[in-house]
Amino acid sequence: MTGDGTRAVRAGLPEPVAYEPSLPGPVFAAHYHLPGEPVGPYTYGRDENPTWTRLEEAIGELESPGTAAETVVFPSGMGAVSAVLLSQVRSGDAVVLPSDGYQALPLVRERLEAYGVEVRTAPTAGDAQLRVLDGAKLLWIETPSNPGLDVCDIRRLAGAAHAAGALVAVDNTLATPLGQRPLDLGADFSVASGTKALTGHGDVLLGYVCCRDPERAAAVRKWRKTAGAVTGPMEAWLAHRSLATLQLRVDRQAVTALALAEALRERPEVTGLRHPGLPDDPAHPVAAAQMRAGRFGCVVSFTLPGRAHAERFLAALRLVDEATSFGGVRSTAERRGRWGGDAVPEGFIRFSVGVEDTDDLLTDVLRALDEAAGPTAQG
Ligand SMILES: *Cc1c(COP(=O)(O)O)cnc(C)c1O
Repeated sequence: MTGDGTRAVRAGLPEPVAYEPSLPGPVFAAHYHLPGEPVGPYTYGRDENPTWTRLEEAIGELESPGTAAETVVFPSGMGAVSAVLLSQVRSGDAVVLPSDGYQALPLVRERLEAYGVEVRTAPTAGDAQLRVLDGAKLLWIETPSNPGLDVCDIRRLAGAAHAAGALVAVDNTLATPLGQRPLDLGADFSVASGTKALTGHGDVLLGYVCCRDPERAAAVRKWRKTAGAVTGPMEAWLAHRSLATLQLRVDRQAVTALALAEALRERPEVTGLRHPGLPDDPAHPVAAAQMRAGRFGCVVSFTLPGRAHAERFLAALRLVDEATSFGGVRSTAERRGRWGGDAVPEGFIRFSVGVEDTDDLLTDVLRALDEAAGPTAQG
């Protein structure tokens, strides 16, 4: 089997055709020529699009190399998350969610409960979801979790969930398929926001669901047709184009994120430092066993002594944009508490490392920390 970088540059490309581009441009079509019986592959634009098909094949090759899997793309990560949860469970079922998952997950919880689904939650750390699996229909895992960066053992949780008769979905946003392959670890669905590191340029919203069981994939596809929120061909094409540099980006980001975490560890004003690549991080043993090739992601989380200190730090950064989201080529950081959705201290910073030169980024961060600390702390 080829290496990750080789697979990433070729993923989803059609066989070469003389005088055609290697990645054909976006196909803009609401409907297709359709004489006679209305059978596909391409009939109507809400159901299928050739630009989606190529992107879906590409993502499938990265999430499940060597084993057939189907991918369904969505116009955002939440589109994909909702599609799995709302297509696979029905009234009377029980679902297990992480209590520390992505901040919009509680909105899905509200919807599930309104439809008569019982929702249980437990934290990601320590595989605590194991204790609430009894009788559940679906277990939702997010590892590493956003923004707390806790990690759980996918293989262990999936084994227990399957033994209890539950399906398993993993939110693979932070790791990307080059950093973690949930389907190989036993999950039924690998779900992600492609808005983050997968596409990596901060200019596209995207989501996807990847699974090996054709019937389950068909149910997700039917949900997409029913809900009718579909990806624009331009976005799908931009996403596919971005996959070619995925390995370069995630490798550079992982190296710099670890270097940043190591530099932050030396700072007295930094507490609660988390990065799964740090050898003494509580998440490291499980992360090292289930994540791939040292790719522990681009996010580093830490806490500064209070809101004002954190705001001074963010304002002093020059190479880092104050913005939400993560995984982009340009570093970003934010005071996560400003959104109000996560259980984090006021001075909690979620830092997303871009692909700048490592030394430049570290210099900028350390200078901003000095400025935020003020003259007394520096002296
Ligand atoms: C951003 C994010 C989502 C939602 O993705 P959107 O593309 O913003 O809809 C879901 N899960 C995780 C872990 C995320 O970080």
